[in-house]
Amino acid sequence: MNKLTAHKNDIILLLILAIAGLCVTGGYRLLHRTTGDTVTITVDGRTYRTLPLSVDTTLDIPGADGGTNHLEIKNGHASITEADCPDKLCVHQTSIRHNGESLVCLPHKVIVKVTANASEDDLDGVAK
Ligand SMILES: [Zn+2]
Repeated sequence: MNKLTAHKNDIILLLILAIAGLCVTGGYRLLHRTTGDTVTITVDGRTYRTLPLSVDTTLDIPGADGGTNHLEIKNGHASITEADCPDKLCVHQTSIRHNGESLVCLPHKVIVKVTANASEDDLDGVAK
């Protein structure tokens, strides 16, 4: 093995270590994400309604342009199951339940965002 090859191997090893480190950090964050307890629905920048994630419910959200998004909260997950927007991107988004996750319907200017109580956030960080 000449000097140049050894140097290259060092760089590759460093890269692998760096990537592995990122994976561990990312995995840790993913596993320790806080489950939210509330969804806040905003339409055109204004808060339309706040709902608890713990109660199964359905709600028709009137969009900014007169359309409708059908929101379903079930087993602590929130998802948009039906909408009459042209792109249907909001319907195809996966259900949300973690603090900070959101469902967005751009054509209707509807945003459904999961929020968690700040103090519970801290407790979860220590306990889990
Ligand atoms: Zn949509």
